[in-house]
Amino acid sequence: MPNFNIDAEKANTYDAIVIGSGISGGWAAKELCEKGLKTLVLERGRDVKHIVDYPTANKHPWEFEFGGRLPLEKQEEFGRRGARIHESTAHFWMKEGEQETVQEKPFQWTRGYQVGGKSLLWARQTQRWSDLDFEGPARDGYAIDWPIRYKDLAQWYSHVEKFSGIAGNYDGLPQLPDGEFLKPFDLSCVERHFQKTIQQNYRDRHLIHGRCAHVTEPQEIHLQQGRAKCQHRNLCNRGCPFGGYFSANASTLPWAERTGNMTLRPHSVVHSIIFDEEKGKATGVRIVDATDGNTYEYFARIIFVNASALNSNLILLNSTSSRFPNGLGNDNGLLGKFISWHNYRGQISGRSEDFPDKMSTGKNPSHSYIPRFRNLYKQETDFLRGYAVGFGSSSRAVQFSRVGIGEELKKNLFDRSLGPWWVSGWMQGEVIPIESNHVRLHESLKDKYGIPQLVLSCDWTENDDKMVKDYMEQMTEMFEKAGFTAINARDSGSPPGSDIHEMGGVRMGHDPKTSLLNKWNQLHHCLNVFVTDGACMTSTATQNPSLTYMAITARAANYAVDEINKGNL
Ligand SMILES: Cc1cc2nc3c(=O)[nH]c(=O)nc-3n(C[C@H](O)[C@H](O)[C@H](O)COP(=O)(O)OP(=O)(O)OC[C@H]3O[C@@H](n4cnc5c(N)ncnc54)[C@H](O)[C@@H]3O)c2cc1C
Ligand code: SF4
Repeated sequence: MPNFNIDAEKANTYDAIVIGSGISGGWAAKELCEKGLKTLVLERGRDVKHIVDYPTANKHPWEFEFGGRLPLEKQEEFGRRGARIHESTAHFWMKEGEQETVQEKPFQWTRGYQVGGKSLLWARQTQRWSDLDFEGPARDGYAIDWPIRYKDLAQWYSHVEKFSGIAGNYDGLPQLPDGEFLKPFDLSCVERHFQKTIQQNYRDRHLIHGRCAHVTEPQEIHLQQGRAKCQHRNLCNRGCPFGGYFSANASTLPWAERTGNMTLRPHSVVHSIIFDEEKGKATGVRIVDATDGNTYEYFARIIFVNASALNSNLILLNSTSSRFPNGLGNDNGLLGKFISWHNYRGQISGRSEDFPDKMSTGKNPSHSYIPRFRNLYKQETDFLRGYAVGFGSSSRAVQFSRVGIGEELKKNLFDRSLGPWWVSGWMQGEVIPIESNHVRLHESLKDKYGIPQLVLSCDWTENDDKMVKDYMEQMTEMFEKAGFTAINARDSGSPPGSDIHEMGGVRMGHDPKTSLLNKWNQLHHCLNVFVTDGACMTSTATQNPSLTYMAITARAANYAVDEINKGNL
């Protein structure tokens, strides 16, 4: 691609470039700017400023043109997910036409292209990994060994938790280390009941408060960010004017901006990373400006790749040179392979006939959680690894009849009663990374920016099917023991990707022959490029992943600054 602005090289030179401004990119920007590095953040989407760009945050239900549900033609713009997108948050979801892909096998790729990325849309569940997870691949003999352990990340978990604000309970479970918690959201009477029946019937299973990135007790560090106590409005994905939950927009990006060291460039679709053959390192990043279609180049000593896992794979695969004809750092041909995600296929719902005298007041933006209990210390099932479970009990809905006309209808509308407690559980299974699950660049098809389309070729394995079956059996048993009725356990059969947690393709490892990144998230063969989003994940565990991306990013950013100061980068 021609370079249109060679003369501007000096003006376009920074200490660091961060690609992507979502959950992980926001953390890279914060850490690098705080340490004094002039940092350029390249973001393909539009700018979304905290509070001012949350147009629906304070709207009443009746103020939505379509009553909340998108009309069919609008749903189609968002592909398969369209029917589930609410009118109040549609502006934060990517429309299909923005980036075409080739689905060699069905894959539902979830994207949020704007400043803040998916940090505006996430469900904010945040659990630490334990050594049972980091040691999993080595112990159970799949994928490759992680080059880090819990002790390498523990201080960084604390670092990001204190700043982000994590509500949670101290549970003392070895499989889910406790963190730096603010007070948790209350469990409902049904959740407490389920917690008790699990405790009575199983020694190894626990229902705990969800751990989530909400400021339930603002500390000085949150007030300094301009964030206030979560108001339990439960309208989080519209953008929260209180900064009650953690998003890059409310937290890390404004913090980075305040240092005076951050330059944020929205509408910058990163095309590739520039590798200088003579210097033997990456020197910058090539972008296509989404507003004028022109190509620009920016230069820096270090580059953080945080475009979300699959886009980070795409960018690296598209960063070719005579030294790296198959993509940056891709000497072993494994770039784009061992893509993984979480298995959300197992679902269960039911009803509680208990507690007819109780109802919930207020709203709970979180839910409860059952940490993994399968194959924790020894192999006990016919599948590898295990699953965690999200559990929720919805508030009792008001029931009334709409039958009749005139007086009869009026009478029915006013004759109201409270419905039952509905309960539901959803599975978060560990998917084993395998080489055949991969992404690659299409040989000829390009997107509207002239960037090769990504071919998605990922599928479930027998291990996933067996895990879903076990989930349905075990959860049915647990629901029955709790006395829930109308139990319906099912396999949603959803395609990979629906599970929103994309991982792998640029995995960390000890050995450059079998991995792409070292233990500091540097490309083995191009040390000034760091990949710290989900692409770096060697395996997936069962925890929601973003807290681990944040901790890994903060750790790598601080290491990068130390290396620069030592003259090594
Ligand atoms: C509905 C939903 C619920 C979720 N719930 C949870 C949860 O409870 N807990 C949890 O841990 N995770 C959850 N997730 C997942 C979580 O959102 C992601 O793990 C997280 O956002 C990943 O961070 P990231 O920085 O890698 O990517 P993102 O936050 O997606 O940010 C990537 C950024 O890079 C930009 N970008 C992409 N390509 C380019 C390019 N070529 N050039 C420039 N910029 C580019 C994007 O526009 C985006 O802003 C959820 C996701 C969704 C959609
Ligand atoms: S529940 Fe909390 S974080 Fe969510 S919108 Fe309300 S105040 Fe904000």
